[in-house]
Amino acid sequence: MKREEARLQELGLWPPHGLLPRRHAVRDAAPAGEAPSVPPAAEAAETAAPATPEAAVRIETVLPVAPVPASPSSIDGLDWPELESAIRVCQACGLCRTRKQAVPGTGNRNAQVLVVGEAPGAEEDQRGEPFVGRAGELLDQMLLAVGLDRRRVYIANVLKCRPPENRNPSPDEVAACSPFLARQIALLQPTVILALGSFAARALLGGEGKVGALRGGDHHHAGIPVVVCYHPAYLLRSPQEKLRAWEDLCRLQDQLSATQTRADTATLSDRS
Ligand code: URA
Repeated sequence: MKREEARLQELGLWPPHGLLPRRHAVRDAAPAGEAPSVPPAAEAAETAAPATPEAAVRIETVLPVAPVPASPSSIDGLDWPELESAIRVCQACGLCRTRKQAVPGTGNRNAQVLVVGEAPGAEEDQRGEPFVGRAGELLDQMLLAVGLDRRRVYIANVLKCRPPENRNPSPDEVAACSPFLARQIALLQPTVILALGSFAARALLGGEGKVGALRGGDHHHAGIPVVVCYHPAYLLRSPQEKLRAWEDLCRLQDQLSATQTRADTATLSDRS
């Protein structure tokens, strides 16, 4: 058993509940119309865990399992690999039934900047990485415009699984997934968070505000400055707002420079 699995087992997150063994995955692939004689959920109770996390992820996508709530206290102590594993096998909401795979996040785990989006779309669900579609291309350009590239930042979403048809995240889904983002923030300790779109802003700041009202404000999450910006997918539909997005990115850059200046001043006063 791998170290991460052992740790997840200790925390009650492994094996993922309701999994079927490999043979059932093969059975599930049988031609349409050949209904299983026993309901999968009933069978699941008497089965052993699959041999690998990859098998677990593959099997859970075809299961009509009941969501199993994630417990924030069990997530609090996870390190990066454990957290990613927990996200990949999560069944805390119904999105585990429709996702192809969960999308934990990507980038530099020592980054100063955390970029938070809404939820994976179709391409992200396929590839397992956030912001890889057209919105991702625009995000890359936005970051480059202020001298950042995606390898220097960490990128995550509020929801780690794709809502079907790219519908809006439901409050229950946001609540179920929020311990994962909270742990990512605790591990990363970013200097500044860039919240893309209303869902990211609300998840971080609370309330029901819209980007138009929140952007430009002085916001914090857990003591960390939050810059609210239009979501790249919105900017693709409303390019006339790109100028405002540029202003938001300049605020991000200002936050980073201010932190750098404070760090330089502290170093100088330490030396004197
Ligand atoms: N892709 C993501 O990963 N997140 C979004 O919010 C939109 C597209």
